[in-house]
Amino acid sequence: MATAKDMQHFLKELTCVKYGNFIDGKWKEGSAGETYTVYNASNQTQALAEFPRSNKEDVEMAVSAANKAFKSWSQLPGPERGAILYKIADLLEANADELAFIVSAEQGKILKESIGEVLRAAKETRFSAGEAFRMEGQTLPAERGNVWNSTVREPIGVIAAIAPWNFPMVTPMRKIAPALAYGCTVVYKPATATPWTSARIMGLLAEAGVPDGVVNLVIGSGSEVGDCLVQHPAVKGISFTGSTALGIKINEMAARKLAKTQLELGGKNPAVVIDYDNVKEVANQIVEAACTCSGQRCTSISRVIVIKEKKAELLAALLKKIKQIRVGPSWEEEATIGPLVNQNHLKTVQKYIEIGKREGAALLYGGEILTGGKFESGAYMTPALFDNVHPSMQIAQEEIFGPVITVTEVETLEEALAVANNVDYGLAAVIFTRDLATAYKYVEKIDSGMVHINHGTASAAHLPFGGTKNSGTGAFSIGHSNLDFFTDLKTVYVGY
Ligand code: NAP
Ligand code: MG
Repeated sequence: MATAKDMQHFLKELTCVKYGNFIDGKWKEGSAGETYTVYNASNQTQALAEFPRSNKEDVEMAVSAANKAFKSWSQLPGPERGAILYKIADLLEANADELAFIVSAEQGKILKESIGEVLRAAKETRFSAGEAFRMEGQTLPAERGNVWNSTVREPIGVIAAIAPWNFPMVTPMRKIAPALAYGCTVVYKPATATPWTSARIMGLLAEAGVPDGVVNLVIGSGSEVGDCLVQHPAVKGISFTGSTALGIKINEMAARKLAKTQLELGGKNPAVVIDYDNVKEVANQIVEAACTCSGQRCTSISRVIVIKEKKAELLAALLKKIKQIRVGPSWEEEATIGPLVNQNHLKTVQKYIEIGKREGAALLYGGEILTGGKFESGAYMTPALFDNVHPSMQIAQEEIFGPVITVTEVETLEEALAVANNVDYGLAAVIFTRDLATAYKYVEKIDSGMVHINHGTASAAHLPFGGTKNSGTGAFSIGHSNLDFFTDLKTVYVGY
């Protein structure tokens, strides 16, 4: 396993090279000839690599390649597609160190998290490989004699995959791997901020034997590339991870051509605390789920809703844990969280720190911008803990997407449930309790796609992942549920 020192060496030896788009198995410069530079998120004076600012023409070429490749890829027997996916998983693991350096460099998360992200992507890819063997239909009784009735599954065609910047490794593979398993082809657009990991993934896909045109990469802005990709008539499904506002816009565009969507959007995830054996354990789980990736996770815990009798004890444990967090560059051995992705995003998160204070919440710890020395060239801030947060406050309602925890006190489980459900989002929800009835009541009454009992918000590599309300729509990703998005049904009547 690579160490922080290995990453420092990697960065020192790095020369800034130019990448193109990956279309029909070949690297191609963007049609407009324009490029931009991606910088090290932990040290924005270091240029990492250059990428194309693509346009409509590049999208046209990529979709046309994917459409052509669909004819043969969809006909390849599932087990053969699966075999290629197993190779991809092996290659992700074999190249885990370098991939993790790249993820940490462009995104800013600490190396340990990036290694975990690459290994997670390999695990999910392996699950998807098995899905290529499990494209099952049903056999049903017929209304008449001498008739067989069944349903079969068929891949829908070209998929547009669009990702945000927080998980540059896991998000693309979460879309590409199931698409390939079920026989679809892909045009993938990464976030403008984090295209480097994606470029590296393309090389590994080719090495694993993915045929030309089956996966294509087009790098460029959402408004220029994303928009025309979503609207392209040959694109039959859009798997989008990102903000709710954009998700709604994409759903509208898709509806006009009756394309399918799989939308994974924002969250404002609650952790309700009723009872526990070990307060330290609960605080550790909450702070880790809130601050991993500097809180830039859709499934971050951001709201703690605690029963009155436990409030003082829990608050003390949360404070103790949050104070142990060491903010630093991604390659630093001692750092437990890295910077935010960039200065623009830091401004957004800082705006919420100011709003929280103005709304009358008590900032018990953190929330400051760090500058000078190793913090000089990155978007660093200390994680923040707000107490006395009223459920109607903006900081309790809106997704902050940074390391900010709010604490709200309640009197009963019913009140906790009402507060937990009183947001526009419904992605992941947590409860800590020693009582089975309380746990099951929470499972039943909480309006969210995923529920965790005495468990942080980490998800497994084979369980369906998704949300309700403004957190998403369409088939859940990761698990077997993907079948509903990437394939269509065909009903068959056979008379004999
Ligand atoms: P974002 O602004 O919604 O962007 C997501 C992607 O959409 C980017 O690649 C972006 O390109 C692209 N895009 C922008 N405009 C577009 C358009 N008109 N048509 C098509 N695509 C367009 O999200 P973000 O700021 O990168 O990420 C943060 C958000 O993602 C948060 O709300 C977070 O909760 C959500 N998220 C959700 C999940 C989940 O699984 N539920 C996981 C991770 C993140 P550019 O980069 O060029 O703008
Ligand atoms: Mg954005």
